[in-house]
Amino acid sequence: MKIGCPKEIKPQEFRVGLTPNAAREAIAHGHQVIVETGAGDGSGFSNDDYLAAGAKIIETAAEVFAQADMIVKVKEPQASERKMLREGQVLFTYLHLAPDPDQTHDLLASGCTAIAYETVTDAKGGLPLLAPMSEVAGRLAPQVGAWTLQKANGGRGVLMGGVPGVGPAKVVVIGGGVVGTHAARIAAGMGADVTVLDRSLPRLRYLDDTFGHVFKNRYSTAGATAELIADADMVVGAVLIPGAAAPKLISRAQLADMKPGAALVDVAIDQGGCFETSRATTHADPIFEVDGIMHYCVANMPGAVARTSTIALGNATLPYMLDIADKGWRKACLEDPHLRNGLNIHAGKLTYEAVSQSLGIDF
Ligand code: NAD
Repeated sequence: MKIGCPKEIKPQEFRVGLTPNAAREAIAHGHQVIVETGAGDGSGFSNDDYLAAGAKIIETAAEVFAQADMIVKVKEPQASERKMLREGQVLFTYLHLAPDPDQTHDLLASGCTAIAYETVTDAKGGLPLLAPMSEVAGRLAPQVGAWTLQKANGGRGVLMGGVPGVGPAKVVVIGGGVVGTHAARIAAGMGADVTVLDRSLPRLRYLDDTFGHVFKNRYSTAGATAELIADADMVVGAVLIPGAAAPKLISRAQLADMKPGAALVDVAIDQGGCFETSRATTHADPIFEVDGIMHYCVANMPGAVARTSTIALGNATLPYMLDIADKGWRKACLEDPHLRNGLNIHAGKLTYEAVSQSLGIDF
């Protein structure tokens, strides 16, 4: 199979769909890999790295799309890319079709077979191709929160780990899933005093068993949240209710109860945010202040650490990508029900029920 990797063209996107190591593995499996010139630049992979792996460098995206049997990307195809997809071609990337009727109609019209990273599942009911980005965002949250807490950025001027004789920052993480657990581990590693709130008792039991010596946990109620945020230097929002907008867990009125200059890091902003005062920001202008409280609400946090994110995503997608290339998408999906869950569109038909329900398109 000829596997094509175009350069990402969505604004502020520096990741790339295929690392040189992934290209090398695909080539070792007998496939050809073509990569658009400069595709890896934003993640620190040069054309020479891909050439050394055995891939071919192609000058334009149009040629990559025209030649490849499978396109491997990071972000959903943009309008200009969608025009280049064709019948029988496999597209393997993040799609997030449910809120995006334009993209859905274009992909249906193209006749391609589109497998979405975000709906591939695993045996434990997890989302293995979303998890790496949650891990990145979670680990990044205390790092950006610590920066937000610095005085020159409008923050409280509190050091995460304190120093001998001065206590550490108090960090509250709301949501103890993938993002929250990674955020709590890093915040605790920086020396902060960390408490995680979650609504799931099984999850709290797991956190207690595994990390009870590293950070505290509490059952998430409005009362517990109010009590903890009043004393917090940093609050990380990391909740998810699958298929729904994030619940608003801190109201604007509650900001008055918090310490001036405290930092709210709303990782759940890509689902609408879990603080009433959150609004999505960008890496270019990441923070803003409301009622004396600093907010960090970047919707694509992993983009800030594109190299780590590219490699993490590539590690997760590699076995699926190889499976599709080795067996063809049909056999790979028939043999692996979890990969099959990633199939969103085939030959002009929607094949994913939740997308069909949210867009009102026949399934
Ligand atoms: P997850 O499903 O692993 O964890 C979510 C947790 O929230 C679960 O443990 C759940 O029990 C808990 N929860 C639900 N309601 C709660 C409540 N009221 N109080 C406390 N806990 C509650 O999800 P995840 O992968 O950790 O993702 C968390 C959020 O981060 C999602 O909204 C996701 O879209 C977002 N995210 C954002 C970025 C970014 O760049 N901004 C990157 C990755 C993930």
